[in-house]
Amino acid sequence: MKTWNQALLLKQIWNLLTDHSLWVQWCKKYLIRKHSFWNLPSAGYHSWSWRQILLLRNVALQHLVYVCGKGDSFSLWYDPWFHGNSIHALYGHRVIYDAGMQGTELVQSVIANGQWNWPVNSPQLLDIHQRVQDIPISSAMDQIFWERQGKLFSSKAAWSSIRVPAPAVGWARMVWHHTRIPKQAFYLWLSILGALKTRDKLFLLGIVPSACCSFNCGEDESIAHLFFACPFSQSTWKAVLGMCNIYRQPLPWQQEIQWMEGHARGKKFPQTLRKLAFGATVYHIWMERNRRSFKNRFLPQGKIIQKIQGEVAAKLLSIEPAMAQIDENHHSLGCNWGMFG
Ligand SMILES: [Zn+2]
Repeated sequence: MKTWNQALLLKQIWNLLTDHSLWVQWCKKYLIRKHSFWNLPSAGYHSWSWRQILLLRNVALQHLVYVCGKGDSFSLWYDPWFHGNSIHALYGHRVIYDAGMQGTELVQSVIANGQWNWPVNSPQLLDIHQRVQDIPISSAMDQIFWERQGKLFSSKAAWSSIRVPAPAVGWARMVWHHTRIPKQAFYLWLSILGALKTRDKLFLLGIVPSACCSFNCGEDESIAHLFFACPFSQSTWKAVLGMCNIYRQPLPWQQEIQWMEGHARGKKFPQTLRKLAFGATVYHIWMERNRRSFKNRFLPQGKIIQKIQGEVAAKLLSIEPAMAQIDENHHSLGCNWGMFG
């Protein structure tokens, strides 16, 4: 059960926020340093697993509950103690300057004599001052919970909670099937959960200057746009569907997931191929989007389709029984995917 791995990564996030083990101390010293975990950028030189942890922050955020006590450990600006968000995520960097602060303050710096005591020298700060009034202050320590107040993290609870957004196990089987390509399955899983950091989200966080799609279509980038409403990804997916002998237009994202769930069940060759093709397409579109978005480089569409084809074919060729099936019944599929040399 690979979903367990994701639950374990969430556990690492939980540990990082609540515990003081050597691993946590090491992360704080070398990876987080002066930053906050919540707005730490993900960089190419980070290890694969650390980058997966950073990618899962959005998912973790939906389940963590920050309960303010006397404000002695939460970061004033970056921790999500403010109605489930961080002030920085909601108001941007500007309010820190407006407040005349550094960004390193703890919540207690705006508490005096058990009362909220915010500087109110800008409209945003005034807004914060008003919205903060219904957050109680106490003499207890700040505490972090999972799901609801009083509840701590358990891998089992995390596992069932990350499954909650999907109504059925149907898509889980489509993602974590026997012959999956692990990193592609991981991104497919994130995209179905809506946990990929698309530009619409980054824009709201003030990380990118606009939400514009990296494929220059003029629309804003969101999960549903990227998979597969954008003309670039739409024609890519249509071509890949064609290679699976499926001749139809790409569907809106949620319907596409449902269609795949219904039409890619089981271990037979065409169904296995569909699952792999779906995962590979989502993965390579996401990689190309990153290339265009952050590296200012791009690959032509033909090259991306070639990569999808090559990786899926290599995976299928590594499974012996699949080959026997191709020869007898699925010759044209094998040809489409370049599996005969
Ligand atoms: Zn687009």
